[in-house]
Amino acid sequence: MRSPGDGPQKCQVPGRQTLTVRVRFAPSPTGYMHVGNVRTALFNWLFARSKNGAFILRIEDTDLQRHVEEAIHLITEGLYWLGMDWDEGPGKSGNYGPYFQSERSEIYRRDVKRLIEAGLAYPCDCELQKREADTPCPCRDRQGKQGDSMKTGIAVRFLNPGGTTSFEDIVQGALDIDNEQFGDFVLIKSDTTPTYNFANVVDDHAMQITHIMRGDDHLSNTPRQLMLYEALGYSPPEFAHLPQILASDGHRLSKRHGAVSLTDYRDEGFLPEALVNYLALLGWSAEGEREFFTPEELISQFSLSRVRKSASQFDRQRLIHLNSLHMEQLPIEDQAQLALEALCRAGILEDPISDDTRDYMGQIMEALGSRFKYGDQILEFGAHFFTEDVTIKEELYSYLSSPDVRNAICTAQEALAEVQDWNESEIEDIVRSSASQFDLKAAPLIHAIRVALSGATVGPSLFTLVRLVGQQRSVRRLQAALDQVPEEAT
Ligand code: GLU
Repeated sequence: MRSPGDGPQKCQVPGRQTLTVRVRFAPSPTGYMHVGNVRTALFNWLFARSKNGAFILRIEDTDLQRHVEEAIHLITEGLYWLGMDWDEGPGKSGNYGPYFQSERSEIYRRDVKRLIEAGLAYPCDCELQKREADTPCPCRDRQGKQGDSMKTGIAVRFLNPGGTTSFEDIVQGALDIDNEQFGDFVLIKSDTTPTYNFANVVDDHAMQITHIMRGDDHLSNTPRQLMLYEALGYSPPEFAHLPQILASDGHRLSKRHGAVSLTDYRDEGFLPEALVNYLALLGWSAEGEREFFTPEELISQFSLSRVRKSASQFDRQRLIHLNSLHMEQLPIEDQAQLALEALCRAGILEDPISDDTRDYMGQIMEALGSRFKYGDQILEFGAHFFTEDVTIKEELYSYLSSPDVRNAICTAQEALAEVQDWNESEIEDIVRSSASQFDLKAAPLIHAIRVALSGATVGPSLFTLVRLVGQQRSVRRLQAALDQVPEEAT
């Protein structure tokens, strides 16, 4: 099996120099993988693959204080799970591990030295003093002195030339930004680590990145970076700042809105191809109304010109809908596997799963059909298939409280207990005739039996449900429901 670092062999083959598009995903390993970051990675990956270019993974881990070791694992494992393979990696053997900025301090050191020598940056030992950007740093006068750079306690600042930075963003259009507001921003911090803006530029140039696609929260960094490209004599890549992903309340999607990390969705039993499909449509659309895409179809249709400028709203229901479309493409055994995993996570089943349980789950999947839309949904209306008893929530008591329904349940229960050949048509006959004996329509009795057997109001067809729950358990659960739920006062 491939490991997350393997990546494809693509970029090793001769002719690598003919690759035109080179993009990167450059996460900082500060915590979980926010779906917004995943969307950024996805757009880069789709663009690279659609142009037969390279997709590079670079871990921006220079900020040691914010570094979370586990985060690196979450990033590589998450991308791997989604099928977003990356190309290249450091090391002579061409391994495909990601690049780590923490292993590249030499090149930052080299470039900052060049800037200092050219009088475009200067060491600063007053960095720790709180200073507003619009107050000139007293160390400015020391420009040209180079001996004391890259020492602990001494930062390096960029000598901001002022003026305006103008650039054409592929998504946002033409932008003019006043440079003064950034002051003489820091390139190397007093702990000798490079700042994001500096390391990002040095690496994007070193890795020959042609297009930078990232969240539009980075827009204010772009003028700083463009000033650095200019100062270093590097030609800048193109920029495409992607619109934000908002929650339904219009605020930036964050933890307080519920699941926002990739792992949350994986652990809820969503399919990677459905997440890829859904996230691709968050800010991009194909021509026409179509919404179902396989990853291959997305690659062939993706284009930067169809990335929207306006923010998109995360819509969980749409994700669930797309997930169900992707589930329909799966063989029953794979659908059953998703449901079994959900039940194991919830502690209702335990590995190893027996063949009988697998077969039984297959039958449940057949019965549920398109009602089963993602893994954890089985907990809503399918966990009871694997437990002895069900508990009926008080809010569902009304289904079972009327005297006629209770009498009909009693009659049905007695008849069900006598069935010799347990099959759906016999079950149906019993339910319908029990209802008519008490002048009831079939529907209230069907709903009541469903609640009694499953504790839920949705699920497969009632007669299939009764068959799958089995004779003994059905008879017992009907009795238990009558015992648990009080009869309504007449
Ligand atoms: N490390 C930055 C982040 O995680 C990268 C931004 C960029 O792509 O330039 O937001």
